[in-house]
Amino acid sequence: MGQTHDGSYDGSPVTALRRIAFLMERGREETRRIQAFRNAAAVILPLSHDEVAARAEAGTLTDLAGIGPSTAAVITDAVRGVMPERLVKLEAAFGPLVKGGDEVRALLRGDLHSHSDWSDGGSPIEEMAFTAIELGHEYQVLTDHSPRLTVANGLSVERLRRQLGVVDAINEHLDDTGAGRDFTLLKGIEVDILDDGSLDQTDELLAQLDVRVASVHSKLRMDRAPMTKRMIGAIENPRTNVLGHCTGRMVMGNRGTRPPSEFDAKAVFAACVAHDVAVEINSRPERRDPPTKLLELARDMGCLFSIDSDAHAPGQLDFLQYGAERAHDAGIDPARIVNTWPKEKLLEWANPGR
Ligand SMILES: [Zn+2]
Ligand SMILES: [Zn+2]
Repeated sequence: MGQTHDGSYDGSPVTALRRIAFLMERGREETRRIQAFRNAAAVILPLSHDEVAARAEAGTLTDLAGIGPSTAAVITDAVRGVMPERLVKLEAAFGPLVKGGDEVRALLRGDLHSHSDWSDGGSPIEEMAFTAIELGHEYQVLTDHSPRLTVANGLSVERLRRQLGVVDAINEHLDDTGAGRDFTLLKGIEVDILDDGSLDQTDELLAQLDVRVASVHSKLRMDRAPMTKRMIGAIENPRTNVLGHCTGRMVMGNRGTRPPSEFDAKAVFAACVAHDVAVEINSRPERRDPPTKLLELARDMGCLFSIDSDAHAPGQLDFLQYGAERAHDAGIDPARIVNTWPKEKLLEWANPGR
Protein backbone atom coordinates (compact mmCIF):
# COMPACT_ATOMS: atom_id res chain seq x y z
CA MET A 1 0.00 0.00 0.00
CA GLY A 2 2.24 2.77 -1.22
CA GLN A 3 5.27 1.74 0.79
CA THR A 4 8.62 1.42 -0.88
CA HIS A 5 12.04 0.44 0.40
CA ASP A 6 13.78 3.76 -0.16
CA GLY A 7 11.41 5.70 2.09
CA SER A 8 9.48 7.23 -0.78
CA TYR A 9 5.71 7.00 -0.79
CA ASP A 10 3.33 6.88 -3.73
CA GLY A 11 -0.03 6.74 -1.96
CA SER A 12 -2.44 9.53 -1.12
CA PRO A 13 -2.57 11.23 2.30
CA VAL A 14 -6.02 9.68 2.83
CA THR A 15 -4.60 6.23 2.15
CA ALA A 16 -1.76 6.87 4.61
CA LEU A 17 -4.12 8.04 7.36
CA ARG A 18 -6.51 5.11 6.82
CA ARG A 19 -3.65 2.62 6.79
CA ILE A 20 -2.25 4.03 10.04
CA ALA A 21 -5.68 3.75 11.65
CA PHE A 22 -6.15 0.21 10.33
CA LEU A 23 -2.80 -0.94 11.70
CA MET A 24 -3.41 0.70 15.09
CA GLU A 25 -6.83 -0.94 15.36
CA ARG A 26 -5.46 -4.29 14.29
CA GLY A 27 -2.86 -3.89 17.04
CA ARG A 28 -5.70 -3.26 19.51
CA GLU A 29 -4.78 0.30 20.31
CA GLU A 30 -7.65 2.24 21.83
CA THR A 31 -10.25 3.38 19.32
CA ARG A 32 -10.25 6.85 20.87
CA ARG A 33 -6.55 7.37 20.13
CA ILE A 34 -7.03 6.25 16.55
CA GLN A 35 -9.98 8.55 15.91
CA ALA A 36 -7.71 11.50 15.09
CA PHE A 37 -6.38 9.67 12.02
CA ARG A 38 -9.81 8.56 10.84
CA ASN A 39 -11.19 12.08 11.36
CA ALA A 40 -8.30 13.68 9.49
CA ALA A 41 -8.84 11.31 6.55
CA ALA A 42 -12.51 12.34 6.45
CA VAL A 43 -11.57 16.05 6.59
CA ILE A 44 -9.20 15.98 3.61
CA LEU A 45 -11.11 13.42 1.52
CA PRO A 46 -13.32 16.06 -0.17
CA LEU A 47 -10.39 18.47 -0.79
CA SER A 48 -8.47 18.54 -4.05
CA HIS A 49 -4.90 17.25 -4.13
CA ASP A 50 -3.70 20.77 -4.99
CA GLU A 51 -5.39 22.34 -2.00
CA VAL A 52 -3.98 19.73 0.38
CA ALA A 53 -0.49 20.13 -1.12
CA ALA A 54 -0.69 23.95 -0.92
CA ARG A 55 -1.77 23.81 2.71
CA ALA A 56 1.00 21.34 3.51
CA GLU A 57 3.63 23.67 2.02
CA ALA A 58 2.13 26.76 3.68
CA GLY A 59 1.85 24.97 7.02
CA THR A 60 -1.88 25.71 7.26
CA LEU A 61 -3.25 22.17 7.47
CA THR A 62 -3.83 22.60 11.20
CA ASP A 63 -6.19 25.50 10.45
CA LEU A 64 -8.66 22.83 9.33
CA ALA A 65 -10.91 21.60 12.11
CA GLY A 66 -9.94 18.01 12.85
CA ILE A 67 -6.28 18.26 11.76
CA GLY A 68 -3.68 18.40 14.54
CA PRO A 69 0.13 18.43 14.47
CA SER A 70 0.56 14.64 14.21
CA THR A 71 -2.00 14.17 11.45
CA ALA A 72 -0.64 17.25 9.61
CA ALA A 73 2.83 15.66 9.70
CA VAL A 74 1.47 12.49 8.10
CA ILE A 75 -0.33 14.45 5.38
CA THR A 76 2.69 16.66 4.68
CA ASP A 77 5.03 13.69 4.29
CA ALA A 78 2.54 11.87 2.07
CA VAL A 79 2.01 14.77 -0.35
CA ARG A 80 5.79 15.21 -0.58
CA GLY A 81 6.15 11.56 -1.55
CA VAL A 82 7.85 10.64 1.72
CA MET A 83 6.67 7.65 3.70
CA PRO A 84 5.17 9.11 6.94
CA GLU A 85 7.26 8.15 9.95
CA ARG A 86 4.27 6.85 11.88
CA LEU A 87 3.43 4.54 9.00
CA VAL A 88 7.04 3.37 8.67
CA LYS A 89 6.99 2.26 12.31
CA LEU A 90 3.64 0.52 12.06
CA GLU A 91 4.51 -1.27 8.82
CA ALA A 92 7.82 -2.40 10.33
CA ALA A 93 5.93 -3.99 13.23
CA PHE A 94 3.38 -5.61 10.90
CA GLY A 95 3.22 -9.39 11.02
CA PRO A 96 0.73 -12.20 11.41
CA LEU A 97 -1.55 -11.67 14.43
CA VAL A 98 -1.09 -15.26 15.46
CA LYS A 99 0.74 -18.30 14.16
CA GLY A 100 -1.48 -20.99 12.68
CA GLY A 101 -4.97 -21.21 11.32
CA ASP A 102 -3.94 -19.96 7.86
CA GLU A 103 -5.79 -22.72 6.01
CA VAL A 104 -9.01 -22.06 7.91
CA ARG A 105 -8.62 -18.30 7.54
CA ALA A 106 -8.17 -18.67 3.76
CA LEU A 107 -11.49 -20.51 3.59
CA LEU A 108 -13.47 -17.77 5.34
CA ARG A 109 -15.54 -15.80 2.84
CA GLY A 110 -16.89 -13.23 5.24
CA ASP A 111 -17.77 -12.28 8.76
CA LEU A 112 -21.09 -12.51 10.61
CA HIS A 113 -20.57 -10.06 13.48
CA SER A 114 -19.45 -6.40 13.38
CA HIS A 115 -20.41 -3.00 14.77
CA SER A 116 -20.51 0.52 13.38
CA ASP A 117 -20.74 3.91 15.09
CA TRP A 118 -24.52 3.54 15.01
CA SER A 119 -24.11 1.49 18.21
CA ASP A 120 -20.77 1.16 20.04
CA GLY A 121 -18.36 0.82 17.12
CA GLY A 122 -15.85 3.55 16.27
CA SER A 123 -16.38 4.01 12.52
CA PRO A 124 -19.17 4.68 10.04
CA ILE A 125 -20.80 1.76 8.24
CA GLU A 126 -19.16 2.58 4.90
CA GLU A 127 -15.66 2.57 6.41
CA MET A 128 -16.32 -0.91 7.83
CA ALA A 129 -17.54 -2.02 4.39
CA PHE A 130 -14.53 -0.56 2.54
CA THR A 131 -12.13 -2.28 4.91
CA ALA A 132 -13.98 -5.59 4.58
CA ILE A 133 -13.55 -5.25 0.80
CA GLU A 134 -9.84 -4.53 1.24
CA LEU A 135 -9.53 -7.70 3.32
CA GLY A 136 -11.05 -9.67 0.46
CA HIS A 137 -14.35 -10.51 2.14
CA GLU A 138 -17.28 -11.48 -0.08
CA TYR A 139 -19.66 -10.16 2.55
CA GLN A 140 -19.75 -8.48 5.92
CA VAL A 141 -22.75 -8.71 8.22
CA LEU A 142 -23.44 -5.48 10.07
CA THR A 143 -24.72 -6.43 13.52
CA ASP A 144 -25.25 -3.38 15.68
CA HIS A 145 -26.76 -3.80 19.14
CA SER A 146 -30.46 -3.98 20.05
CA PRO A 147 -32.57 -1.41 21.98
CA ARG A 148 -32.15 -2.61 25.58
CA LEU A 149 -28.37 -2.37 25.40
CA THR A 150 -28.50 1.35 26.03
CA VAL A 151 -24.84 1.51 27.21
CA ALA A 152 -23.88 0.47 23.67
CA ASN A 153 -26.40 2.84 22.04
CA GLY A 154 -28.53 -0.09 20.86
CA LEU A 155 -30.74 0.59 17.85
CA SER A 156 -34.47 1.21 18.34
CA VAL A 157 -36.98 -0.13 15.83
CA GLU A 158 -36.89 3.24 14.03
CA ARG A 159 -33.10 3.47 13.91
CA LEU A 160 -32.65 -0.11 12.71
CA ARG A 161 -35.26 0.50 10.01
CA ARG A 162 -33.32 3.58 8.93
CA GLN A 163 -30.05 1.64 9.00
CA LEU A 164 -31.47 -0.95 6.60
CA GLY A 165 -32.05 1.86 4.09
CA VAL A 166 -28.47 3.03 4.57
CA VAL A 167 -27.16 -0.50 3.93
CA ASP A 168 -29.17 -0.64 0.70
CA ALA A 169 -27.74 2.72 -0.36
CA ILE A 170 -24.16 1.63 0.39
CA ASN A 171 -24.59 -1.58 -1.62
CA GLU A 172 -26.03 0.40 -4.54
CA HIS A 173 -23.12 2.83 -4.39
CA LEU A 174 -20.61 -0.03 -4.31
CA ASP A 175 -22.32 -1.63 -7.31
CA ASP A 176 -22.39 1.65 -9.25
CA THR A 177 -18.74 2.44 -8.65
CA GLY A 178 -17.60 -1.13 -9.15
CA ALA A 179 -15.74 -0.93 -5.83
CA GLY A 180 -17.75 -3.77 -4.36
CA ARG A 181 -18.23 -5.93 -7.42
CA ASP A 182 -18.00 -9.17 -5.47
CA PHE A 183 -18.97 -7.78 -2.10
CA THR A 184 -22.26 -7.42 -0.24
CA LEU A 185 -22.89 -5.66 3.02
CA LEU A 186 -25.47 -7.88 4.72
CA LYS A 187 -28.14 -6.78 7.16
CA GLY A 188 -27.89 -8.13 10.65
CA ILE A 189 -28.19 -7.55 14.35
CA GLU A 190 -26.54 -8.60 17.55
CA VAL A 191 -29.76 -9.01 19.43
CA ASP A 192 -29.80 -9.21 23.21
CA ILE A 193 -31.13 -12.37 24.79
CA LEU A 194 -33.48 -11.01 27.45
CA ASP A 195 -33.87 -12.61 30.88
CA ASP A 196 -36.76 -14.78 29.75
CA GLY A 197 -34.97 -15.97 26.59
CA SER A 198 -36.88 -13.71 24.20
CA LEU A 199 -35.05 -11.54 21.68
CA ASP A 200 -34.76 -7.78 22.06
CA GLN A 201 -36.23 -6.73 18.69
CA THR A 202 -39.60 -7.10 16.95
CA ASP A 203 -40.08 -10.28 14.96
CA GLU A 204 -41.25 -8.19 12.01
CA LEU A 205 -37.89 -6.42 11.87
CA LEU A 206 -35.81 -9.54 12.62
CA ALA A 207 -37.51 -11.14 9.62
CA GLN A 208 -36.14 -8.40 7.34
CA LEU A 209 -32.53 -9.12 8.24
CA ASP A 210 -30.12 -11.53 6.58
CA VAL A 211 -28.35 -12.87 9.69
CA ARG A 212 -29.08 -12.60 13.43
CA VAL A 213 -26.53 -13.14 16.18
CA ALA A 214 -28.14 -13.56 19.62
CA SER A 215 -26.01 -12.82 22.69
CA VAL A 216 -26.32 -12.44 26.45
CA HIS A 217 -25.05 -9.06 27.68
CA SER A 218 -26.90 -8.62 30.98
CA LYS A 219 -27.23 -10.63 34.19
CA LEU A 220 -24.27 -12.79 33.20
CA ARG A 221 -24.14 -14.21 36.72
CA MET A 222 -27.64 -15.68 36.60
CA ASP A 223 -27.99 -19.14 38.21
CA ARG A 224 -27.18 -22.11 36.03
CA ALA A 225 -30.73 -23.40 35.57
CA PRO A 226 -32.42 -20.12 34.56
CA MET A 227 -29.39 -19.18 32.41
CA THR A 228 -29.66 -22.51 30.56
CA LYS A 229 -33.38 -21.96 30.03
CA ARG A 230 -32.75 -18.40 28.90
CA MET A 231 -30.14 -19.40 26.30
CA ILE A 232 -32.20 -22.33 25.00
CA GLY A 233 -35.19 -20.02 24.70
CA ALA A 234 -33.20 -17.80 22.34
CA ILE A 235 -31.80 -20.76 20.40
CA GLU A 236 -35.30 -22.14 19.87
CA ASN A 237 -36.42 -18.83 18.36
CA PRO A 238 -36.58 -19.56 14.61
CA ARG A 239 -34.97 -16.17 13.85
CA THR A 240 -31.74 -16.97 15.71
CA ASN A 241 -28.80 -18.03 13.51
CA VAL A 242 -25.74 -17.63 15.72
CA LEU A 243 -25.21 -17.90 19.46
CA GLY A 244 -22.77 -15.04 20.16
CA HIS A 245 -19.87 -15.30 22.68
CA CYS A 246 -21.72 -17.95 24.70
CA THR A 247 -20.02 -17.61 28.08
CA GLY A 248 -19.51 -13.82 28.11
CA ARG A 249 -16.12 -14.26 29.73
CA MET A 250 -13.29 -11.72 29.49
CA VAL A 251 -9.78 -13.08 29.73
CA MET A 252 -7.89 -9.78 29.47
CA GLY A 253 -8.18 -6.19 28.34
CA ASN A 254 -9.04 -2.75 29.67
CA ARG A 255 -12.54 -3.80 30.73
CA GLY A 256 -10.97 -6.25 33.19
CA THR A 257 -11.55 -9.98 33.39
CA ARG A 258 -14.84 -11.73 33.93
CA PRO A 259 -15.57 -15.40 34.60
CA PRO A 260 -17.72 -17.38 32.17
CA SER A 261 -21.47 -17.56 32.76
CA GLU A 262 -22.70 -20.85 34.12
CA PHE A 263 -25.09 -22.97 32.10
CA ASP A 264 -25.63 -26.59 31.04
CA ALA A 265 -23.42 -26.54 27.97
CA LYS A 266 -24.55 -29.97 26.78
CA ALA A 267 -28.18 -28.88 26.80
CA VAL A 268 -27.36 -25.56 25.13
CA PHE A 269 -25.26 -27.11 22.36
CA ALA A 270 -27.85 -29.87 21.84
CA ALA A 271 -30.40 -27.11 21.26
CA CYS A 272 -28.02 -25.45 18.79
CA VAL A 273 -27.78 -28.73 16.83
CA ALA A 274 -31.55 -29.29 16.95
CA HIS A 275 -32.35 -25.75 15.78
CA ASP A 276 -29.52 -25.35 13.27
CA VAL A 277 -27.91 -22.49 15.21
CA ALA A 278 -24.16 -21.93 14.86
CA VAL A 279 -21.96 -21.57 17.92
CA GLU A 280 -19.86 -18.46 17.51
CA ILE A 281 -16.10 -18.64 17.83
CA ASN A 282 -15.64 -15.06 18.94
CA SER A 283 -12.24 -13.91 17.69
CA ARG A 284 -11.72 -10.99 20.05
CA PRO A 285 -8.51 -11.75 21.98
CA GLU A 286 -10.05 -10.58 25.26
CA ARG A 287 -12.97 -12.97 24.82
CA ARG A 288 -11.62 -16.23 23.33
CA ASP A 289 -15.15 -17.49 23.64
CA PRO A 290 -16.10 -20.35 23.93
CA PRO A 291 -13.28 -21.59 26.14
CA THR A 292 -11.39 -24.57 24.67
CA LYS A 293 -13.25 -27.25 26.67
CA LEU A 294 -16.62 -25.94 25.50
CA LEU A 295 -15.37 -25.52 21.95
CA GLU A 296 -14.36 -29.18 21.92
CA LEU A 297 -17.69 -30.21 23.45
CA ALA A 298 -19.58 -28.30 20.74
CA ARG A 299 -17.33 -29.95 18.13
CA ASP A 300 -18.06 -33.42 19.51
CA MET A 301 -21.78 -32.73 19.66
CA GLY A 302 -21.89 -31.85 15.96
CA CYS A 303 -22.55 -28.11 16.19
CA LEU A 304 -22.13 -25.66 13.35
CA PHE A 305 -19.75 -22.75 13.98
CA SER A 306 -19.22 -19.23 12.75
CA ILE A 307 -15.85 -17.53 13.16
CA ASP A 308 -16.63 -13.88 13.88
CA SER A 309 -14.47 -10.81 14.38
CA ASP A 310 -16.99 -8.89 16.54
CA ALA A 311 -15.09 -5.88 15.18
CA HIS A 312 -15.83 -2.48 16.71
CA ALA A 313 -13.36 -0.75 14.37
CA PRO A 314 -12.23 -1.48 10.79
CA GLY A 315 -8.78 -2.84 11.69
CA GLN A 316 -10.38 -5.32 14.06
CA LEU A 317 -12.03 -7.03 11.08
CA ASP A 318 -8.67 -8.75 10.69
CA PHE A 319 -9.18 -10.52 14.05
CA LEU A 320 -10.71 -13.47 12.14
CA GLN A 321 -7.20 -14.94 12.17
CA TYR A 322 -7.43 -15.48 15.94
CA GLY A 323 -10.66 -17.45 15.62
CA ALA A 324 -9.31 -19.42 12.65
CA GLU A 325 -6.34 -20.50 14.74
CA ARG A 326 -8.63 -21.70 17.54
CA ALA A 327 -10.85 -23.62 15.11
CA HIS A 328 -7.78 -25.24 13.58
CA ASP A 329 -6.38 -26.18 17.00
CA ALA A 330 -9.72 -27.72 17.95
CA GLY A 331 -9.71 -29.74 14.73
CA ILE A 332 -13.02 -28.37 13.54
CA ASP A 333 -14.02 -29.45 10.03
CA PRO A 334 -14.18 -26.27 7.90
CA ALA A 335 -17.35 -27.62 6.26
CA ARG A 336 -19.09 -27.03 9.60
CA ILE A 337 -17.99 -23.38 9.72
CA VAL A 338 -20.83 -21.45 8.11
CA ASN A 339 -18.69 -18.59 6.88
CA THR A 340 -16.70 -20.96 4.67
CA TRP A 341 -19.92 -21.52 2.73
CA PRO A 342 -20.84 -19.62 -0.45
CA LYS A 343 -22.98 -16.59 0.34
CA GLU A 344 -26.09 -18.12 -1.24
CA LYS A 345 -25.83 -21.21 0.96
CA LEU A 346 -25.26 -19.06 4.03
CA LEU A 347 -28.36 -16.97 3.31
CA GLU A 348 -30.48 -20.06 2.70
CA TRP A 349 -29.35 -21.50 6.00
CA ALA A 350 -30.04 -18.25 7.85
CA ASN A 351 -33.44 -17.74 6.22
CA PRO A 352 -35.05 -21.12 5.66
CA GLY A 353 -38.12 -20.87 3.45
CA ARG A 354 -37.46 -17.27 2.40
ZN1 LIG B 1 -21.74 -8.96 22.25
ZN1 LIG C 1 -20.70 -7.66 19.24
